[in-house]
Amino acid sequence: MQAEEFRRHGHDLIDWVADYLQGVEAYPVLPDLQPGDVRRRLPAEPPREPEAMETILKDFRTLILPAVTHWNHPRFFAYFPANQSGPSILGELLSAALGVNAMVWQSCPAATELEEVVMDWLRRMIGLPESFRGVIQDTASTATIVALLCARERATDFATNEHGFYARTAAALRVYCSREAHSSVEKGLKAAGFGREHLVPIAVDNELALDPTDLAQKIAADREQGLTPCAVVATVGTTSSTALDPLVPIADLADRHRLWLHVDAALAGSAAILPEKRAMFDGLERADSFVFNPHKWLFTNFDCSAFFCRDPQTLVRTFAIDPEYLRTAFDSGATNLRDWGLALGRRFRALKLWFVLRSYGVEGLQARLREHLGLAQEFMQWVVADPQFELLAPVPLQTICFRHCPPEVAAAGAEALDRHNAALLQRVNATGQLFMTHTRLRERYCLRLSIGQTETRREHVVAAWRLIRDCAQAR
Ligand code: PLP
Repeated sequence: MQAEEFRRHGHDLIDWVADYLQGVEAYPVLPDLQPGDVRRRLPAEPPREPEAMETILKDFRTLILPAVTHWNHPRFFAYFPANQSGPSILGELLSAALGVNAMVWQSCPAATELEEVVMDWLRRMIGLPESFRGVIQDTASTATIVALLCARERATDFATNEHGFYARTAAALRVYCSREAHSSVEKGLKAAGFGREHLVPIAVDNELALDPTDLAQKIAADREQGLTPCAVVATVGTTSSTALDPLVPIADLADRHRLWLHVDAALAGSAAILPEKRAMFDGLERADSFVFNPHKWLFTNFDCSAFFCRDPQTLVRTFAIDPEYLRTAFDSGATNLRDWGLALGRRFRALKLWFVLRSYGVEGLQARLREHLGLAQEFMQWVVADPQFELLAPVPLQTICFRHCPPEVAAAGAEALDRHNAALLQRVNATGQLFMTHTRLRERYCLRLSIGQTETRREHVVAAWRLIRDCAQAR
């Protein structure tokens, strides 16, 4: 593509993106499609001849766009948000334009050092002690695998790195997390060679947070059987209901039994920039590692996962490699981020985070988070005040778990209520007016409304509540 042609399409596309972001509300949040609908409309063979950009962009508009779920939509309330912002998109554009691979310092000094700086800014913003060093991973799932691998190596004196699990004659390594922890912990155990059966589920209390008494008992039982307790994953802000595992008693147990403590606050970590929410992170300074996703709730588009480690030496010892072709004259004085995680190649993700932190400023970020938190409290009060609805979990953050519970359906039993709410969710989402998802808490099917898109304002949450009630009445 010649420079002039790039310039022309680039200008058009930026105009398109600006219009899209401004007008995203006009789209249905969720496309009305069946699996295979998109693929059927696309050719099976790649084009033999070059195609004009006009043709490609036309197909983007007619074939791709109608099949997009609009995560930017202010009435997107599903899963957890993956929000973004203008500054972030611009930073991402520059990262694509530079196209650097920040595997070693020399391969892009700016990428490595900017990453060190913005991660240190984030560390200060969330109140982590100076002993923590940060690195950007692609996702929280990867960060958790990285933490588990560090835990494995520390527990085996780095022998598993050398000899694999085959050579281990010692007892199996055990990892603990609450029943409400994210599935990435289980995936991590599978991928890191622990084996899924060595993930020990810990009971939760009335608020769906990890019960430290049960954790203590499970560790003691493992020890009695000659197994080796290795790591505990605590969650601040569980995926289903944003429950808050109590970090202080968990850190006490981790200290006593020399467990690696990994704290997963994929969504909730952003709230640590709010002084009034810091209490939910008490004890975090005693963790070995911590992850949260600016790509969830800090206006930085996917992917950007902030991983902090209290002892980077363990991290580097776990992952360091040293092939001749990657050696440089700067190796003794520079940070080579290839040794801070699984991937060698690394995108220049720090750029978009830098753009976001600078253009919002800490106060701007705090203001948007507070708005989301306030809206969640309001929504929760509407649920509580309506006798037809039931709140199913505390709301410490921006996600509300609830269900429609009319007496005549409730009288028909638990399964009838589950079916009723699943059908209600289908009806709500089929309108295209909003998108929310569900979960199960204590065996009960719940609707789940998660507030956190960049442009979500009170009017959108009001509209969501009205629509949910209308759909509930129109059954
Ligand atoms: N941990 C928690 C608590 C989550 O809620 C999620 C995703 O929602 C994850 C981990 C996985 O995040 P990622 O998609 O960045 O791997």
